[in-house]
Amino acid sequence: MLITLNRERKSSFTALGGLRACIALFTLLSFHCVFASAHLPTDSTASETKTEQSTSAIKDSFSKGSFIKDKTPEKAASSTQMTNAAILLYHHVSTQTPSSTSVTPDTFTSHMEYIANNHTVLPLTDIVNAIVEGKPLPKDAVAITFDDGYANILENAHPILKKLGFSYTVFINPNEIGVAPQQLTWEEVKRMQDEGVIFANHTLDHLHMLNYEFTDENWLERVFENVEAAEKKIDSELGVSLKYLAYPFGEYNLALAAKLEENGYVGFGQHSGAVGETSNLLALPRFPAAGPYANLKTLKTKLNSLAMPVVHTTHAEPRVRSNTLSDTITLTVDEEDVSLNQVNCFYSGKNIKTHVDGEKVSFAIESTLPVGRSRVNCTAPSKSMAGRFYWYSMPFFLADDNGRYPD
Ligand SMILES: [Zn+2]
Repeated sequence: MLITLNRERKSSFTALGGLRACIALFTLLSFHCVFASAHLPTDSTASETKTEQSTSAIKDSFSKGSFIKDKTPEKAASSTQMTNAAILLYHHVSTQTPSSTSVTPDTFTSHMEYIANNHTVLPLTDIVNAIVEGKPLPKDAVAITFDDGYANILENAHPILKKLGFSYTVFINPNEIGVAPQQLTWEEVKRMQDEGVIFANHTLDHLHMLNYEFTDENWLERVFENVEAAEKKIDSELGVSLKYLAYPFGEYNLALAAKLEENGYVGFGQHSGAVGETSNLLALPRFPAAGPYANLKTLKTKLNSLAMPVVHTTHAEPRVRSNTLSDTITLTVDEEDVSLNQVNCFYSGKNIKTHVDGEKVSFAIESTLPVGRSRVNCTAPSKSMAGRFYWYSMPFFLADDNGRYPD
């Protein structure tokens, strides 16, 4: 299978105009190949599981008013030359939960202390708005996100985030808040919101959104109704409706992305990569930072990564229907600063052969795709920013014979 990105995005999308054209482009192109140099982690899997966890009592005392530190205009102005940021994705912060989706409180603290000394943490809304409006961000911008609304976020992550004055966002499943024993309660959510924490949509009940796509004739309406009901519940409880959706398990397809776009949503995935001007606003990448990705040494490279400016892909649809991709995939990278001749791409942890021709990078996936989630990651060094790598990830989602996706 081939993915080719070409430079014709402007002419192709002129009719849509401005921002909508930009968003539409990303919807259609939905590309994700991450360029990882040989010494970088391959990040070939991202799994998300929901597990039971006993919740200890939350004894934090809350103070009214946001603890989020304002970024001074001076600081922002001193380093604003580009629109780029790394968004981190966490689930559990606990020693009691599954290692694949957890960091210990000590590891989480080490991540946050490193970020405090080396990066500028911004609210997720600032980063999305900068991408939408084409405005620059501090060159070391980072956002912190959590999926699933576990109580251990409040118990173990909130104190350090509050101490450091870091904004963060939690994507919640409203039907599970205050219901499942390991979840935050609405009271806790509201108290956190009072302190400046951002809450957004992770669907009502953490469904696999692509299940039964081809056997349920009302599939798209059904899953979109779920998204809208979750948004409505968050709005009624918290009085906010950002229309930010983090896809459960990171799973989406072009039809769903288009439906979300029509209705003013921004989508967040679980494939890795920095975000920037050319990012797909219906599938913004985030770096998983738990389990095998919690290593601070490799996390530093990701925090410093740059959004690969892929302007066209020949493989826009992440949901595949076969376990073999027979065509070559070609990406067109519209950026002179990318050292494409040093590009490295990996599929499921294995380096794959790439062919570079000018601004085009092509590769084939010869492995059999597994049921569930897999991805190609590609990185290439920046020519002008020593030690920084452009990063791009392309996810693939394959259902089982029953049209279902595994956790
Ligand atoms: Zn989740």
